[in-house]
Amino acid sequence: MNRLFSQRRDRLLTYQAMREGKTASSRRVSCPGCGEESGALDWSRNGQVCPRCGCHGPIGAYYRLSMILDPGSFRELEEKLAPADPLDFPGYPEKLAALREDTGLRDAAVAALGRIEDHKAVFVVLDSRFLMGSMGTAVGEKVTRAAEYAEKRKLPLVIFSASGGARMQEGIFSLMQMAKTAAAIQRFQSGGGLYISCLTHPTTGGVTASFASLGDIMLAEPGALVGFAGPRVIEQTIGEKLPEGFQRAEYLLDHGFLDQIVPRSQWRPVLGRLLALHEKGGRG
Ligand SMILES: [Zn+2]
Repeated sequence: MNRLFSQRRDRLLTYQAMREGKTASSRRVSCPGCGEESGALDWSRNGQVCPRCGCHGPIGAYYRLSMILDPGSFRELEEKLAPADPLDFPGYPEKLAALREDTGLRDAAVAALGRIEDHKAVFVVLDSRFLMGSMGTAVGEKVTRAAEYAEKRKLPLVIFSASGGARMQEGIFSLMQMAKTAAAIQRFQSGGGLYISCLTHPTTGGVTASFASLGDIMLAEPGALVGFAGPRVIEQTIGEKLPEGFQRAEYLLDHGFLDQIVPRSQWRPVLGRLLALHEKGGRG
C-alpha cells in the first residue's frame, strides 16, 4: 500500500514538474544575464540555467522539489492551505483564481516532507510565479506549520526562498507573518532544530527581513539578488552610488552574510551532505 501511495506521489510531482516545463519548445529565450539567445529546450534541459553564461532563471516550486528529492519520497504538507481576502482587496480573489489555474499552485509556497540522499527533512519552497512569491497569510502559516512539524518530528528544515516580500493585497496581515514566522523559526532552533535557508533570485522585502535570513546555514544560488529594499530605492534614499554587485549572492558571500553559493545542479549533493553531517551520529 505504501508503495502505491509513493508511486502516486511520484507521478503527481512529475506531472507538476512537466506542467511547469510546458513552455519548452523550439522557442528562443533571451538570457537576462548575457543577452544571448538560446533554445528554450536547452534552458529546460539545463534546469532553467543559461547554457551560455550560467545565469539562473526562475523555476517553480514543484520542479525544484523534483530536482532535489529522492524519487518517491515527496509528500506534500498542508496542501489545502489557501489565503483569505481579509481586506476585501479589489480584484484579489480573481487574481488568485487565475494564478491557481495557471500554475497549479494554491498559493506561493509548497511544503513537503521528503528525503535527499536518504536523509529526511521538511521542505518549504516559494514560487515566484505566484504573485512574486509574496508572503501573505497562507505563506506565513505554511512556513510556521512546517517549522512546527519539523520541531515535533525532530527533522531538519530546509526553505528555498524567492520572494518580492510581503503581499500588499493582505496589508497588515502580511506584515504580521514576519513576526510569526521568525518566532516559529526561533522556537524550532531553540529546541535544537537545524534550519538551512536557501536564497534564490530574488529574495527581498519582508521575507528577507524574517525567516529567510535566520538560517543556521545560509546558502544561495549564483547571482541571486538578496536584500530588503531594492538597489534603486537605497540609492535614491542615501544619495550615493552603490558598489558593483551590491546585494548579489557573491557580494553577500564576501561580506559574511552567506556560507556558500550553490549552483542549481549542486543542491542535491550539498544538501545531502549537510543533512548527513547534522544527523544524529552523523554519517557525513
Ligand atoms: Zn546567459
